Amino acid sequence: MSRYIATRAIRGANALVTEAELMLRRAIAEKGPDTPVAFPNTAYYLPTILGMTGIQVETIGQLEPALAHARELLHPLPSRSHWTPYLGETLDSGMATLLAAETIEAVRYSYGLQPEPMPGFQLAGGTAFTSPDNGHGGDGLDGHLNGPIDDIQLRSWGIQLVDGRMPGFAAIVGAAKSNEVAVKIVRELQRRNILCFLSGNVNGRSIIHQLIEEGVELGYDTYTVPFGTDTISAIYALGFATRSALTFGGLKAGMARDILLYNRERVFAFVLALGEVDDLKYAAAAGAINFGFPVIADTVIPEILPTGVTTYEHVVSMPFNEIDGADDLERAELLVQKCIEVRGVKVRVADVPVPVPYGSAFEGEVVRKADMRIEFGGKYSRCFEYLYMDALDNVTDGKIDIVGPGMDEVEPQGHMDLGIVIKVAGRQMQTDFEPVLERQVHYFVNGASGIQHIGQRDIAWIRISNNAADKGFNLEHLGKILHARFHADFGAIVDKVQVTIYTDPDQIQTWLEKAREAYDFRNKRLADLTDNAVDEFYSCTLCQSFAPDHVCIVSPQRLGLCGAYNWLDCKASFSINPTGPNQPIKLGTMIDGHKGYWSGINEYAKSASHGTVEEVTMYSIMENPMTACGCFECIVMLIPEANGVMVVSREDTSMTPAGMTFSTLAGMAGGGLQTPGVMGVGKFYLVSPKFISADGGFKRVVWMSSILKDTMADEFQAVAEREGDPDLLGKIADERQITDVEQLLAWMEEHNHPALIMDPIF
Ligand code: SF4
Ligand code: ZN
Repeated sequence: MSRYIATRAIRGANALVTEAELMLRRAIAEKGPDTPVAFPNTAYYLPTILGMTGIQVETIGQLEPALAHARELLHPLPSRSHWTPYLGETLDSGMATLLAAETIEAVRYSYGLQPEPMPGFQLAGGTAFTSPDNGHGGDGLDGHLNGPIDDIQLRSWGIQLVDGRMPGFAAIVGAAKSNEVAVKIVRELQRRNILCFLSGNVNGRSIIHQLIEEGVELGYDTYTVPFGTDTISAIYALGFATRSALTFGGLKAGMARDILLYNRERVFAFVLALGEVDDLKYAAAAGAINFGFPVIADTVIPEILPTGVTTYEHVVSMPFNEIDGADDLERAELLVQKCIEVRGVKVRVADVPVPVPYGSAFEGEVVRKADMRIEFGGKYSRCFEYLYMDALDNVTDGKIDIVGPGMDEVEPQGHMDLGIVIKVAGRQMQTDFEPVLERQVHYFVNGASGIQHIGQRDIAWIRISNNAADKGFNLEHLGKILHARFHADFGAIVDKVQVTIYTDPDQIQTWLEKAREAYDFRNKRLADLTDNAVDEFYSCTLCQSFAPDHVCIVSPQRLGLCGAYNWLDCKASFSINPTGPNQPIKLGTMIDGHKGYWSGINEYAKSASHGTVEEVTMYSIMENPMTACGCFECIVMLIPEANGVMVVSREDTSMTPAGMTFSTLAGMAGGGLQTPGVMGVGKFYLVSPKFISADGGFKRVVWMSSILKDTMADEFQAVAEREGDPDLLGKIADERQITDVEQLLAWMEEHNHPALIMDPIF
């Protein structure tokens, strides 16, 4: 252990704790101890303080005990004459630094100084077409950096963190050697789908400035989150890490040691310190090491070798100019590789032969009208995609044909009709997998930087940006992407992939008709695919990497709570990976068909949950309901006074009649425990005939977030008709009118809600 690092980290920690104390004292004097403090859209108060000390800070005054704890963790500087190991002292100082940093950011929030202003800057947003204003960072304040990540985003990334699409995060602090190097580092990380959290500066210049100057889109959708241009804002990365342990790991506030170990074992994060490292950066780095996150610096600093706190080295120095690369870009690439190696991040990248950067980090990119070379589908043209299986002999692997004119024949910002027809063959392929594979087209095409894909089937909509077209991206590349990705991701069921891209109007007509016949056939097949028609359901234990005792039981009529896995997906996934997270569960004896008890399901749930769950019902919220991890799309919760349930969407940040927001409710629903009356579900389960059918079904819904009502209006109308109450939707309240129980009861009376006269729900 280096005395030099210990000295600087301890000195940095002392200075920051003192600064936080002064700031807090002033805030108490100016604003009073009862002034509220909070980070936006989180149920975890100030998350690092909550996780590490258990203190639920809601007011300025409550910051005092947290800071007092930080002060206790401080140590005197190592003496010049004695050599002691210092590691414990250094780690303590790191923790003190984190508590002080979070205190400072909280106080800044109360003064309106966070998120940090950045004139002219706009966060990369959700698409204008699909995402309503829901408080996501993408729709955040213009002219501000992001600040901390909200719970909504944490949960929606959850599934990507668990399924390996997102292997980890990089907390980048400082500024790169040049703008070019900054862009290269971020691109290399994006290419591997590693989240980039950006903060800090060197002499006033931050990597955030560098990326903004180079026109790099920053925001949740591109996996690059600009926290702030000072080192203190790096605390948001550790708040994110702490919350992932609380959200997915079922750990409780104050379980500091478990939270730290959880992160070391499951969260593949590291700190990349760019440029000169000052006392505060040493102190913050020591804080990160507590979480098992190693620090890699691109300057000369002493190293700390493995002692067990992180998996490998704790601090690694890789002076940028000494990296053995042909030029700065290659050096940047090698630096990123080193980071990945030191943290042991498991990265999976498909090699996709396209002239633009490619990776999941580009999936959320938006191509605005002004930046667009051409579009297919949308308002002025049609675009469809259709995947089907054929005999092995009828498919030529890797063949890509364009039938009709190319995109260069269309004037800039123009549009044309497009049909993407994919023919696959494989010994393990089944017709049932066609829709599962076809649905991937969206993700695969979107992975190319500068290409935007929305929708599916015959309402697909693709835009190609000027930038991508200038780099040579054309229609053939759509085929190349699909060929490469189907092999990479579905190689176990797909042996051959052939793609034909139609732009010829007659051919489009012909193939569109064939495609629509297939869509109809699949719709019917799905409608016939009921729980009673099969003799096995599937498990999903994917989330166990984060929520160790949780298991989803996926039936034809009840999809996984994240919304990403239905029964067919699980079936396909089992074929791809027979020892993977989706296993068939033989139903065994039906114990109670009404509530949905089967002997096979109970046995499976008991063993897969390691005994946490003894029995589980498929169709009841009141009796042994299914457990939840943390990535549910909605929460269904009993409102006893209303004899019914409310359904809250993950996107809804407003108050619910239960007196809690989604974020707070989520804390009760997650963690792999059974809580009668509370359940996390996928939103398409709401429209299933088996939705809490043992408790009375959809007619029990008395309140529902308006975003669900609006985005699934047609589906819910069909449900209302199926339930024999065509006006039902109008009888369900939402947050626009009703935010507490009294109002809700009055609304129900007024609208004659059926739950009023249903049997008591318990
Ligand atoms: Fe996680 Fe359940 Fe989704 Fe599987 S189906 S990924 S266990 S939430
Ligand atoms: Zn999950």
